[in-house]
Parts: sequence; structure tokens; C-alpha cells
Amino acid sequence: MGADPAFVDFQHASFSYDGASFVFQDLNLSVPQGQFLCILGDNGSGKSTLAKHVDALLKPTEGSVFVFGANTKEPEQLFFIRSNAGFVFQNPDDQIVATLIENEVAFGPENLGVENPELRERVQDSIQEVGLQGFQLHETHALSGGQKQRVCIAGALAMEPALLVLDEATAMLDPRGRSGLMRLIGQLHESGMTIIMITHFMDEAAQADRVVVLDAGTIRMDGTPDDVLSRASELQELSLEAPFACQLSVKLQELGVPVPVCITQDELEEQLCALL
Ligand code: ADP
Repeated sequence: MGADPAFVDFQHASFSYDGASFVFQDLNLSVPQGQFLCILGDNGSGKSTLAKHVDALLKPTEGSVFVFGANTKEPEQLFFIRSNAGFVFQNPDDQIVATLIENEVAFGPENLGVENPELRERVQDSIQEVGLQGFQLHETHALSGGQKQRVCIAGALAMEPALLVLDEATAMLDPRGRSGLMRLIGQLHESGMTIIMITHFMDEAAQADRVVVLDAGTIRMDGTPDDVLSRASELQELSLEAPFACQLSVKLQELGVPVPVCITQDELEEQLCALL
């Protein structure tokens, strides 16, 4: 992986789709191994474009992007990058190609040349990891949105990636599917996986190690969730809302209740209980 400790490194990267206007210019962003990074930003701020650079689906027009120390512009590095970085997109129907779950999960590692018995083992383990054991022979089209997204994650996990990039992967799920998926992502992070997650849900960003806010391709905020998500007025300027717990704790402070600004409901509950 080279001497560079960053797993993902945007160095003075600029990108333009049409050669005229830039989505981002001179962007520097370094993601160390093991970090859970959430990227927030208004629609059109460049989040998906940035994510596609991590999988080398797009290459910077100027500057460089390194993933695991490999330059995404070098064609001979693409297999290395794509076999170690898993991607999950917003709509699972755009990603699922096979009829049966086990074939879908096997698709990625098969393409990497993984053979039986290891292939079978990886498929079983990944299906179990996402909580779909017993569903191996179910048809993918008959699943709920949350289950389909779990299949996509299992497919990525079966490739044993060091890095998982999720681009609005929870956007189409109901609240239950969303919280189940967030629990799974939390477990993967705890097991050491590096996670880059694009989301517009503030409660999801609250679970990350670091939150970056993009605005028209520029990094406007970068810090811990506690730091970034409690800056309600700055977030509002960027068309984002502070988490509900944060808004409520600020209101309570205004009413004279001595609580700190909290970014999660659990934290606020704890603080309020301590006052009783
Ligand atoms: P976000 O994910 O934050 O909504 P995107 O990365 O999708 O932002 O888009 C950033 C900008 O790039 C937007 O102005 C969008 O219209 C433009 N854009 C996105 N995809 C394409 C494309 N395939 N061709 C041309 N312009 C695009």
C-alpha cells in the first residue's frame, strides 16, 4: 500500500464533465485507513462525482486521486483499486444483475477470479454478515428495498474490500431498513473497514468519525460530527438542517434548560435524564 498512510487521497484534484465548468477545483481530501467519513452537501454539490473518483469510474481532469496509494489515472491500477474498494449505490435495482441472491453475491468475487471452495465460503459468509442467511436461493427481484440493498452490500463484502463507498445507499429505504443498514455499517467500521458514506440524513452523519460538507465542489466544513453538526446556522446557509436533537437542545438552552448541544437523540435523552 506504499508509505502513504491515506487510503484515499485527492491531491489538487479538479474535475469537469464538459470541459467548461468544474464540479470541483483544486480539491484536497485525505481519508486515513479505518476512518468512517460521511460526506454531506446540497443536491449538485459534487458528492457523487467525488465518490465516482474513488472507484476510478471518473478521473480528475487536473491533479490526482490516489486510492490505496495507487494513481487512478494509471490503467494498470484499475483492477487493484476496484478489487479492494466496494461500491454501493442509491438504487439497488441499478446494481443487481443476477436472479438468485447467491449468484448476485458471487458475481464480484467470480470476476476477480476467486474459485470454489473459497468462493462458496465468501458468499455464505457475506450473506450471513448482512443478515440474509437462509435467503441464498431467493429471487432478488422479490426482495424489499432494504433486503436488496443488503444483497448489494453482501456482493461488495464478498470481494473482501478494504474500503466501502456508499452513495446515498439508504435513500430509498424505510426507517427500519435504514436503521438496520446503519447498524451493519457500524459493525463493518468497528471491524476495521474504511467507510466513505454519502448521505443527506444527519442522524447517519452523527455516527461517523468525520463529517465533510461540500458546497459547489468546495469543502466548507470538515470535522467530527460533534463539531460540524452542531453548527446549525452554518449548516442552514448550506441548505442543510442540523440534526433534530441539536435543534431541540439549542431550543432547550434558550428556555434555560442546562443541556449541552447534543447531536443524537440518545445523548440528549441521557442529558435530560441526568437533570431529573
Ligand atoms: P451531488 O451528488 O452532490 O448531488 P453530483 O456529483 O451528482 O452532485 O453533481 C455535481 C454537478 O455535476 C451537478 O451540477 C450535476 O448537474 C453535474 N453532473 C453530474 N453528473 C453529470 C454528468 N454525467 N454529466 C454532466 N454533468 C453532470
